[in-house]
Amino acid sequence: MTLSKKFTTSLITISLVASSIVGTAFASETPKSDSKIAVSGNTKNPRNIIFMVGDGMGPSYNSAYRHFADNPDTKEIEPTAFDQYLKGQQKTDPNDPKENVTDSAAGATAFSTGQKTYNGAISVDENKKKLKSVLEQAKEDGKSTGLVVTSEITDATPAAYASHVDDRDKKDEIAKQFYNEKINGEHTVDVLLGGGQKYFGSQNGNLQKKFKKDGYDVVHNKNALKNAKSDKILGLFADENMPLQIDAPNKNPKLVDMQKSALQRLEKNKKGFFLMVEGSSIDKSGHPNDITGVMSEMSGFEDAFKNATSYAKSHPDTLVVATADHSTGGLTIGKGKDYVWNPDAIKSMKHSGSYMTEQIAKGKDPKKVINEGYGFKVDENQINIISKEADKLSKLKEEDSQYETQLQALQDAIQKPINDKSHTGWTTKGHTGEDVNMYAMGAGSNKFDGLIDNTDNAKFIFSFLENKS
Ligand SMILES: [Zn+2]
Repeated sequence: MTLSKKFTTSLITISLVASSIVGTAFASETPKSDSKIAVSGNTKNPRNIIFMVGDGMGPSYNSAYRHFADNPDTKEIEPTAFDQYLKGQQKTDPNDPKENVTDSAAGATAFSTGQKTYNGAISVDENKKKLKSVLEQAKEDGKSTGLVVTSEITDATPAAYASHVDDRDKKDEIAKQFYNEKINGEHTVDVLLGGGQKYFGSQNGNLQKKFKKDGYDVVHNKNALKNAKSDKILGLFADENMPLQIDAPNKNPKLVDMQKSALQRLEKNKKGFFLMVEGSSIDKSGHPNDITGVMSEMSGFEDAFKNATSYAKSHPDTLVVATADHSTGGLTIGKGKDYVWNPDAIKSMKHSGSYMTEQIAKGKDPKKVINEGYGFKVDENQINIISKEADKLSKLKEEDSQYETQLQALQDAIQKPINDKSHTGWTTKGHTGEDVNMYAMGAGSNKFDGLIDNTDNAKFIFSFLENKS
């Protein structure tokens, strides 16, 4: 009773805070102070652009993260690093013959090229015609370019900036285009950092060796990234997607480490740069409804956003945009009849649901995995359910048609205690079609005010590039 009362009060505070943020963000024509002009009244043409994508980061992700990151010792719910830069929202719908909820390929094509396309398309239109991206335009203009992600570097979002294929699953081809496509005699992207090493090895034309021969540093861990000297770099830190921040070994760079390393290189170009930074695994945790993974990756994305905005404050010719391509999973803050969402349970976790699932799938004892992964006591009944699902999975081979379904059934069982204790709800394992938040600060950020279309992001950036600066 006391708890729910306390929560009602907090919820009122949130809505007041939220409405005052929206109020100031939209009222940029009557700024209250000079600092306000700098963040929301800026019509300057940017020389440098840092475009940040929280893949799957729908509005409920931003609100949930505010609770998660809140300092429990104060009554106020502190704003996140994003909040003060809220500009409005963007519409995310694709141009697909059957579907009106976007995937990351159509989404990224929209905000990298300014054209809507079908789900699965990587910067080609419905007739498979190539569409030029803002990164390619920036390179043509003599700027430096970078892609920094936590997924495979060949994943849909980064792919849409520097390759053109009719199907996002053609990752070998995407990697080949990263190497083969040249602008003014140079590779399209100067800084490539993320996962997906398997697309650059001997089974796909030894692309990393070729990059090395062409003057790129090729690195595979945080130390090597730190010590690398060349302005051009290919960093591949995992065979597939990089591990989530909460589960990652220390030798792995975080998103913010990769972003810093990219900025050090790109900023040497007097003509400026275009850098796309993606918190890719916000979405990859949303799909299997893994709230621990989602909060881990939101935190990594916020760190990178903080670093980007502080960079823009000391380099006022820089624009920082942060947004999402769509929402994922139907994340609900407060499921069931109680008006409660409890981030403490999530904060106590030592590993993500995805990590624990992987460990059990590899044959590790479920009880041990739960003990090591959970920050609170899971009751025997739930451990038995997890063990039963683990048992069913162990009888299947990876190539069996039911394997993936059973793997998700195991993951659902593993995550049930945390979803229950935190009162986190989900409606789907796929994407959802609501508008997503737009955050922007620095040079040119005024353009992003109000409700825009996902294609407007590219249209605005093309116009900045055209105006030069
Ligand atoms: Zn997705």
